[in-house]
Amino acid sequence: MNIQWYPGHMTKAKRAMKEDLRLIDLIIELVDARAPLASRNPDLDELGKGKSRVILLNKADLAGERENGVWMDWFRAKGFYVTEVNSQRGDGIKKINGIVSEACKEKLERDRRRGILNRPVRAMVVGIPNVGKSTFINSFAGKACTRTGNKPGVTRGNQWIRLNKSLELLDTPGILWPKFEDPKVGLLLAMIGSINDEILDRDELAVELLKFLQEKKPEVLEERYGSAGKEEGGLTEEVLQQIARTRACLKKGGELDLTKAAGILIEDFRSGRLGRITLELPKLESSTEEKLF
Ligand code: GDP
Repeated sequence: MNIQWYPGHMTKAKRAMKEDLRLIDLIIELVDARAPLASRNPDLDELGKGKSRVILLNKADLAGERENGVWMDWFRAKGFYVTEVNSQRGDGIKKINGIVSEACKEKLERDRRRGILNRPVRAMVVGIPNVGKSTFINSFAGKACTRTGNKPGVTRGNQWIRLNKSLELLDTPGILWPKFEDPKVGLLLAMIGSINDEILDRDELAVELLKFLQEKKPEVLEERYGSAGKEEGGLTEEVLQQIARTRACLKKGGELDLTKAAGILIEDFRSGRLGRITLELPKLESSTEEKLF
């Protein structure tokens, strides 16, 4: 499955981001804890050179607890400030002010030495579509200052949000990049719902998701659908049929509707009904490479 999706407004957003970076001290980057690398924007390391960096592992509630810890260590080792959050519930949000001050310590100190007092830290909030940026900003800012929705790729203009006298946020539209050099990245983004569903083959996506779950989390399939389909041959079809049967997905003639079953599986995964599942782990620099996907 080869997924490419780069609406024109995203090119514009990238140009705008370059301009906006001149205005800010710090980048707060949201990534999806289920696929923290795939959901990063690879342009950002280049664009954001010299800026303090904070990574928020958002949707941490949907990802494995242990895996969240592995990712936090990995990002820290690369020099990022990092924490896990559940923007929907507000978990982990209170810590962020402290992390921002820590990340901007040198700048604040420099300001103080130059006699500049009370200049707020300006942070740019970035993240790919559907990573939970609006939800995060609403939660962090404590009031409904941006709209949220479950539609990846919807254009929003940049806006400044004044949190308090020491911090201002710049909200930017989510951006994706022109080529997912690794097709796995496109697949992971599709799984977590960051690629517009209209351009996806949901049947194929469900099969890929099933293959992953059969290999890594068969117990989850067994538990929710009563079949992991891993006997003889490991057919994904078996599981889809089982889902169709238990959820009464039937076509008009009474035939099983596997497309509908595929949709149920995808939604069950995305919403966390299958439990906390991380899709990728960092490649370790040592030979004992730990790999989920
Ligand atoms: P945006 O496109 O990045 O602005 O994403 P939204 O803020 O619109 O969020 C996309 C979807 O993810 C919405 O359905 C949110 O309710 C959901 N969401 C956001 N943050 C979290 C989180 O931390 N945990 C969970 N479970 N869902 C979240």
